[in-house]
Amino acid sequence: MKTILEVGHIATAYGHSQVLFGIDLHIRQGEVASLLGRNGAGKTTTLRSILGLTPAHSGHIHFMGQRIEKMTTDKIARMGIALVPEGRQIFPNLTVKENLIAFAVNRNQSKTPWSLKEIYQLFPRLAERAGNMGNQLSGGEQQMLAISRALMTNPHLLILDEATEGLSPLVREEIWVCLRKLRDQGQTTLVIDKYVEKLIPLADQHSIMERGKIVWHGNSESLRQSPETWQKYVGV
Ligand code: ATP
Repeated sequence: MKTILEVGHIATAYGHSQVLFGIDLHIRQGEVASLLGRNGAGKTTTLRSILGLTPAHSGHIHFMGQRIEKMTTDKIARMGIALVPEGRQIFPNLTVKENLIAFAVNRNQSKTPWSLKEIYQLFPRLAERAGNMGNQLSGGEQQMLAISRALMTNPHLLILDEATEGLSPLVREEIWVCLRKLRDQGQTTLVIDKYVEKLIPLADQHSIMERGKIVWHGNSESLRQSPETWQKYVGV
């Protein structure tokens, strides 16, 4: 399978404080990859470096065969990386439908673009709330909208940063079901989350970070067989 994202030994600092020390990631088309680790391990900074928000000072990043580590964030996003950030960040004063339409763009010519109808099939709750303002939605509905909005850009790579954070178990489950559906449709995805038991059946490969380094990498089978590893580094 074609490589979508290749992160090669990146190092990143905030001012003089180095927080990433040689991160490697390799995600092929259609794969779901997870990035695990405790708070402060460097997961968000890794995403920020991929997106050019906090550029790496060394190493390289290839996306869809192009070097991107020196590109601006808007250019990287236009190449087809969609981030669902921690804290959702939807437009509060637009309706659900307007939030979705505002983001519609086809960045992936190789597939049929997402339509509102398909989004509403994925999250029927959003169809019911189509005319409601963003700020009238529950936390779970906002998260569904944030994911849907990212999908409306038809990304080559979807990235979710703690998408289930702060949600009720029931809503969390809906998000996991959605991610499984997207995987089955071939959506390449990088997921940051702490629910290892949910990520094992969802993702093809897992990377565990600690103190700015990848300390473990493997497939779901080997992660399942080494609970001591994730208890040590993820702590759940
Ligand atoms: P969390 O789940 O808490 O977001 P994380 O694994 O995503 O954790 P990062 O947010 O990437 O970790 O943080 C990695 C390290 O970088 C931490 O030590 C953090 O204190 C530090 N850090 C994060 N943002 C900044 C910043 N803007 N300036 C300085 N240091 C920062």
